[in-house]
Amino acid sequence: MNRKKFLQLSSMGLIAIKLPVFSKPVQKPIVISTWDSGMPVNAEAWKILSSNGKSVDAVEAGAIYIEDTINCCVGLGGFPDRDGIVTLDACIMDEKANCGAVGGLEQIKHPISVARKIMETTPHVMLVGKGAQQFALENGFPKEPATLSEDAEKAYKVWLEKNQYKPEINIENKRTSGGPFAPMFFEDGTLNHDTMGLVAMDSNGDISGAVTTSGMAYKIHGRVGDSPIIGAGLFVDNEVGAATSSGVGEEVIRICGTHTVVEYMRNGLSPEQACKKACERIIKRDPEKAKTLQVGFLAMNKKGEYGAYAIQKGFVYSVKSNNENKIHTSKFLI
Ligand code: ASP
Repeated sequence: MNRKKFLQLSSMGLIAIKLPVFSKPVQKPIVISTWDSGMPVNAEAWKILSSNGKSVDAVEAGAIYIEDTINCCVGLGGFPDRDGIVTLDACIMDEKANCGAVGGLEQIKHPISVARKIMETTPHVMLVGKGAQQFALENGFPKEPATLSEDAEKAYKVWLEKNQYKPEINIENKRTSGGPFAPMFFEDGTLNHDTMGLVAMDSNGDISGAVTTSGMAYKIHGRVGDSPIIGAGLFVDNEVGAATSSGVGEEVIRICGTHTVVEYMRNGLSPEQACKKACERIIKRDPEKAKTLQVGFLAMNKKGEYGAYAIQKGFVYSVKSNNENKIHTSKFLI
């Protein structure tokens, strides 16, 4: 074929020119987590990831760290339900789709470790309420006093005056001026939610995730949000990637949020595009309602690429890898 013919055919798209494909190396290990409070959580997970540890150990370590942090709406220092009781939700999922979860757990400091124990020693995935507590006690987790943290108690008293359940959008950002662990009491009694969701890939390329929260403050006693529900607050598929969420859990549950994000990635979308599509689904169902609430998704694929999207402005997330250690701001739709 002469040069003229070749150019003619290729301009008509009739000759496929094969260029060598240089695929980017997989970015691993890496850990990503919700909110700016994810920075010290990532640091904790990184200790394990950087010494060739397993991703499941890394995400548990990160979650334990935040559950121990008293000035945070995660763990027993978190905000109570409308009856003044702190109830905790958590879940963990590893690269083999082993998973464990607790819902409405009271007076136990580390719900994430109870979730892991369920995953590793029982035929079940989720235990809730009294049964979850009984399981924890039988497995040596000590029972903690049923007292509120100082901040939570003050806020609850103020909230009781109005007694109104009204989740506030991006409540987490109200305290950013004082840093992620600045005291959380606000004069108006508001402080509704703050969930730690994290996803990690270890140097072996295996992905795991964990979520821990005290859920939406002032919820009805017994309410469980998306956070401990596999496929809602967390989903891991080691062939594709993983996702986690934060925000109004009911909206995430309705679309099986993180499972949806992972399925979008399976179909070829980037983590950011996949999170965006999931947010769009929530908005499409009820555009007026969506204006009043926040949901943010955070995802990572098998290449170690990550991304997030939120319904509203204000969702941030933290990333730690060999290349970076920083807080990113998520794009948003409304
Ligand atoms: N998603 C959590 C829940 O609905 C709350 C949060 O993310 O802050 O319980």
